[in-house]
Amino acid sequence: MKYGAVTRKSRYADAPRFAHWRSRGCSFILHPSSFVLLAALASVVYFSTVSSTAQTRQRRNGAHSAGARDSFTPADRRLVERAIGATCTERIRDPFSSMPIDEMQSRPSLPVNDPEAVAGVHRAERLLPTTRKLVVNAIVQLAKEYDLYENAVSRGRVNAATTRVEAVKRVKPDVDARDNASVLLREPRMIEFGTIFLSGLRSDEAMISVLAHELTHIASGQADSLRPLFRAIAHRASLRTGLRIQGQRAEELACDLVGVIAARRFIKETPSWESLSRRLARAFEHNCVDDDASDEDHLSPRNTLRALFALDVGFASEVLNDGGMGAFRIGPKRASVNQVMLTASSGPS
Ligand SMILES: [Zn+2]
Repeated sequence: MKYGAVTRKSRYADAPRFAHWRSRGCSFILHPSSFVLLAALASVVYFSTVSSTAQTRQRRNGAHSAGARDSFTPADRRLVERAIGATCTERIRDPFSSMPIDEMQSRPSLPVNDPEAVAGVHRAERLLPTTRKLVVNAIVQLAKEYDLYENAVSRGRVNAATTRVEAVKRVKPDVDARDNASVLLREPRMIEFGTIFLSGLRSDEAMISVLAHELTHIASGQADSLRPLFRAIAHRASLRTGLRIQGQRAEELACDLVGVIAARRFIKETPSWESLSRRLARAFEHNCVDDDASDEDHLSPRNTLRALFALDVGFASEVLNDGGMGAFRIGPKRASVNQVMLTASSGPS
């Protein structure tokens, strides 16, 4: 995979870090047909890289790896690829699906009073308190899963991180932020949200995954409290995909992982007649791009999908199960009329 073809915008403002959801400025323009060729080339490179590098690394680590949970079979790899396809197919079918970020980037700026942007702010504000709780739970869950909650120092780091999450109270729409969301770690009380991004996330599930991503940046904070966890997650994703995931890329991927875990938990807690696969796909769909460019700080959107599904193949299985006759739906209980009403805003009930 070739890196560096994309010029990144400044992602950090001086000392206090300014952590973006995603900010990519293309330094070159290609004819659309080139993208097809590029995509084909990228797949060839990806598959050869994965089949050689990852397998080699796995073999090398196999003798003294941390056990069964680090195993990732060729069948899992196929499952991951099918899940990416299913997610992006579902995006086309679902009337409340998210807009891919490359499409967001190509849109003209949207005023703050645009009805879709206003609806997005209301959605974000409504979901922020719930998302804070989901993020706290997800971070603790991941810390335990990656053996980073075992001693007082580790637990102290995690507790400091979750305390910062609780302090975030505001979502501020911003025209110039366009298709980005960001947080200023010097003032970690607010998430700034581009109006294009706000309007492009048309479901509660998608909004929660992005809010949770930003809250995880805040959780780690200027102290970088979650750095060990970010590294551990990136290490596992690298082993399973063969992708190079270091530095800021590790943090961005981990924030995405917290995002999909939070969305998954939200789906479980808010029954709906919509299928689990459709609702879960919404947490990933903004990555269903045609222009699959990476930069130094982020995996490309499609490789982000790949890494997320590889980190938890349970997500891949759930996205692939289309529910059929409702087998995989989490139906509302008969008494939970209010809950059904609550989730109606994210799609047809
Ligand atoms: Zn980010």
